[in-house]
Amino acid sequence: MSHNPTRHALEIDAIPAFDDNYIWLLHRGGKHAAVVDPGDADPVLAALSARGLELRTILITHHHWDHAGGVPDLLRQYDAQVFGPHDERLGDWNQPCQEGDQIALPELNLHLEVLDVPAHTRSHIAFHGHGLLFSGDTLFSIGCGRFFEGTPEQMQRAMDKLRQLPAETEVYCGHEYTQSNCQFALAVEPDNPALQARYAEVLALRSAGRRTLPTTLGAELAANPFLRTREPSVIAAAQKQDPRAQPGSSTMATLRTWKDRS
Ligand code: ZN
Ligand code: FE
Repeated sequence: MSHNPTRHALEIDAIPAFDDNYIWLLHRGGKHAAVVDPGDADPVLAALSARGLELRTILITHHHWDHAGGVPDLLRQYDAQVFGPHDERLGDWNQPCQEGDQIALPELNLHLEVLDVPAHTRSHIAFHGHGLLFSGDTLFSIGCGRFFEGTPEQMQRAMDKLRQLPAETEVYCGHEYTQSNCQFALAVEPDNPALQARYAEVLALRSAGRRTLPTTLGAELAANPFLRTREPSVIAAAQKQDPRAQPGSSTMATLRTWKDRS
């Protein structure tokens, strides 16, 4: 009997790695799988064998070792295709992709589009489709990645691009940073009720040993200061740090510097 992925729901599991990374495991119908950002091969191999899955596709959001380091070991075990950004720091196993490219995962009946979202690294990409966003280290719940190789203007453009997606989009980030991100966000917007509610939820989840992801884009728009750099309350808080902060990228720059110091 042939494998028909359309008859089954897509499942997305979190594979914890290192201290606070998540490797996202996608599967449908119990046969084939894809992973996003496998920084470490061992927990992926264990998760695949526990579920009897065969790895077919690997998606990489950016070249950092904690997102791409497991690829060579996975390719020793599985004949998988690897899609990542145009970046010579990835191995020759990478099939480079960029904004507008469509990645077909036929065994999972998925088609994901690539978004260019540089700032954390100069070649960072995200994957979007079917109401899902894999945002790597660009968009975190209640935070964003550090600007290691990019500018506040680039992160502002990335946030402006992501905010166009439907509010119900499920956001799968690269790290469990939500609790500490909430603590910083509350310094920015102590009176934001959506943020207060998210922090209460996050504390309850974390004390129960549960993850805070995925989040939704709508929830982030209401509470994530890095998506709110044109909100008067966020601009006013930024101006207390730097009176030159204006709506958009200068508030983005001020928030990032403030958070990096705090
Ligand atoms: Zn990173
Ligand atoms: Fe990372």
